Amino acid sequence: MKQLLLASNNADKATEFRSAFAELSITLKTLKDFPQFPPTEEDAPTLEGNAIKKAMEAWERTKLPSLADDTGLEVFYLDGRPGVYSSRFAGEGATYADNCRKLIAEMKGVAPRRRKAQFRCVLAFVPDGKNVHCVEGVCVGVITEAPSGGGGFGYDPIFLPDGYTQTFAEMSVALKNTLSHRGRAIMAMKKKLAGVAW
Ligand code: IMP
Repeated sequence: MKQLLLASNNADKATEFRSAFAELSITLKTLKDFPQFPPTEEDAPTLEGNAIKKAMEAWERTKLPSLADDTGLEVFYLDGRPGVYSSRFAGEGATYADNCRKLIAEMKGVAPRRRKAQFRCVLAFVPDGKNVHCVEGVCVGVITEAPSGGGGFGYDPIFLPDGYTQTFAEMSVALKNTLSHRGRAIMAMKKKLAGVAW
């Protein structure tokens, strides 16, 4: 059975990837299986850069085919912010609630038609320490005027995907995964994994 390392410590992400890869003959490991390694510093200026850096560093440490993701929320009215800085939008150590509050505040009074935003998820796969394969998944929607819903994480309570009347935080995880940026990127990566040598 092939081994694949998901270069993440995030249990929610591991669950998503495990369920997406369930029908493939792959043993999915995560960084929890390698507690001796510190987290990669996510200091690249782009999502692609961070995803590649995480996957490459994981390969260098373990020599296992490695997969890493990086996600950002790009708000058009804010010229793409917070983007690559989504996890620390309200400052170093900010909580999900802090980040949502700051975004709501920055969007205060902005008309509904100008509240468009997209989540963008980049997945990088490093099979051998030399080659890199990247895919991305995008989900477009609007930033709501107030949080709604208790599920999900991050900016889910204030993101209403196009074509739906519930925020990501009000939907079931299963529904979110069918339309989310990460769900789409995972589908694209599954196709990629079937088509490249590793
Ligand atoms: P990461 O690089 O994938 O960990 O994502 C960076 C930040 O983007 C996280 O700290 C969250 O605030 C946000 N984020 C990532 N994915 C999602 C999602 O599916 N829903 C809401 N927020 C997300």
